[in-house]
Amino acid sequence: MKNKTAYLTIDDSPTSGFRDKMTYLNKKNIPAVFFCIGQLMEQRPNEIIECIQKGFIIANHSYTHPAFSKISLEQAKNEIEKTDEIIESLYQKAKVKRPAKWFRFPYGDKGDLKNGEVFSLWKRGNKKRKNYIQKVLKDLGYTQPAFANVTYNFMRKANLFEDIDWSWTFDVMEWSINQKKPTQGIKDLESVITRLSKQRPSDCRGFLGFEKRWLASPSAEVILLHDHEATNQSFNTIIDHLLDLNLSFEDLPT
Ligand SMILES: [Zn+2]
Repeated sequence: MKNKTAYLTIDDSPTSGFRDKMTYLNKKNIPAVFFCIGQLMEQRPNEIIECIQKGFIIANHSYTHPAFSKISLEQAKNEIEKTDEIIESLYQKAKVKRPAKWFRFPYGDKGDLKNGEVFSLWKRGNKKRKNYIQKVLKDLGYTQPAFANVTYNFMRKANLFEDIDWSWTFDVMEWSINQKKPTQGIKDLESVITRLSKQRPSDCRGFLGFEKRWLASPSAEVILLHDHEATNQSFNTIIDHLLDLNLSFEDLPT
């Protein structure tokens, strides 16, 4: 009997390590969605087509990866639309029907001037800006699954499943490796792995409350990992450790 359900989401693709990553996931039979950056997809179109044909899902992570609170609404619309068109054309070239339109904001910044503190309940943010961008996504047919088996209160309280953009429940935080100022002491692969096997690891994105999290919780998880060149060498090891935790990686609910 598996511990609990997990959905794998990978941001910032495609980099030079993209093909190796999808090949490894394919070998391990792990479904995943790659939230891709438009301008990077233009550099590696064939790899994206291959990824689509392998059964992974390609989703929208903007064109240039800006913080949406720092750009105009017109730019925000353009970032989303331009990348949507690229994905559409790559699905056509792959001769695969696009299963869903999904979007995740760079840095978790919904453009509402909350500085990406997505889990913060007390920061109200700029509703007008947020609603405008949500409507751009809605009009293009973007959705976020309801994730009925994700039972975290902090997700429900912050209405994160009511938004059209994608959120996550567990950040692997491997992006913190090699940073000048590592977040919460996550400075190398070892500290990432140690944190993975903790019952209740701390997070770093705003308010999370006292709810039992990660292995201490029966909730399904939307896991956030990245396709970064700095951590190409660590990717397979992280995946192996996630598998050791007896998580059941399931298809993304389209
Ligand atoms: Zn990103």
